Amino acid sequence: MSKRDYYEILGVNKSAKKEEIKKAYRKLALKYHPDKNKGDKGAEEKFKEASEAYHVLSDDKRKTNYDQFGHAAFQGAGGQGGFGNFDFSSSFSDIFEDVFGDLGDFGFATGRARGRSNNRGNDLRYDMSINLDDAFNGTEKKINYTTYKKCKTCSGNGAKPGSKPSICSYCGGQGKVRSSQGFFTIQQTCPQCSGEGEKITNPCGSCSGMGKTQSSESISVKIPKGVDDGTRIRLSGKGEAGNKGGGSGDLYLFVSVEPHSIFKRSEENLYYELPISIADAALGTTVEVPSIDGGKTKIKIPSGTQSGKQLRLKGKGMPILRRNINGDLYIRIITEVPTSLTKRQKELLSEFKTLEDTKSNPLIKTFFDKAKKFWKN
Ligand SMILES: [Zn+2]
Ligand SMILES: [Zn+2]
Repeated sequence: MSKRDYYEILGVNKSAKKEEIKKAYRKLALKYHPDKNKGDKGAEEKFKEASEAYHVLSDDKRKTNYDQFGHAAFQGAGGQGGFGNFDFSSSFSDIFEDVFGDLGDFGFATGRARGRSNNRGNDLRYDMSINLDDAFNGTEKKINYTTYKKCKTCSGNGAKPGSKPSICSYCGGQGKVRSSQGFFTIQQTCPQCSGEGEKITNPCGSCSGMGKTQSSESISVKIPKGVDDGTRIRLSGKGEAGNKGGGSGDLYLFVSVEPHSIFKRSEENLYYELPISIADAALGTTVEVPSIDGGKTKIKIPSGTQSGKQLRLKGKGMPILRRNINGDLYIRIITEVPTSLTKRQKELLSEFKTLEDTKSNPLIKTFFDKAKKFWKN
């Protein structure tokens, strides 16, 4: 099924400001909230769709990625790579608090008030540098990092094997407590069990009741071809394990691409300057030039080529991320004026000078014709 455009879902245009995006989402969320449309699958879908669109468009980085790559920016690549899909359950409470405030001021329970979601493990960041060839071909890199994994002794629940966590007596296992202040009843996370509803009386020896232990990980990650400097790749679930069996966080790879000795990159296109001699520029020639695939490409320099002329080699640029096309290679010709001459070269150039006429250098003639007129007035 093809996905709808996020801007279309929210009914805003691409230049919409943050406030406008928020307002549009707020309106849709109120209309389609599951609490207001019990059992209506269509409304639920619309609600999720709007939340996902807001999740992306409300964040500068995500929005830029989306503007550049569309939905492809958030789809997995080669199994574990990619930005991953929108994880509705984990992002939802953040979105909702951002838009409606912590208490869910429209009478809905916010995700967080439902509790037990605070145990998710931390996300990790891993900075990685690759060269332009790797960015062109795609690559696979082994990375080593330290993280927390679910404790094997207690399977993550934090209790000594054979023992069980006991129900929190403070909240009766609800994870929430109510207190009255004047006319209001306020519901809070239970301070005794941090909302978990249970307490460990006999902690696991391996993890001291945390449910996770530190571990060194070594994994192999696929870097898709076409990644650019600043591309972020999410490896879902490869972050730290949560407390007491909570879900794992994600691992984010921040890719930087090293500068190349020849090619300069601007998005999918590549550029370089090709120096040629004044004789080649005047007489014309054929040159073999490098392309990023490591090969050689023959290009024809026509006679009378001026310095600054740009040639375009279609499809010889960088691959576009998750699309099967490449950008272009732009070669800017610059003529190199000789900086040291032998006696013989000087003689020949002097002789050549005596043969120069206004036909061979039309630009010079035109310019000084204009200058003469200017000086007369
Ligand atoms: Zn343990
Ligand atoms: Zn409690």
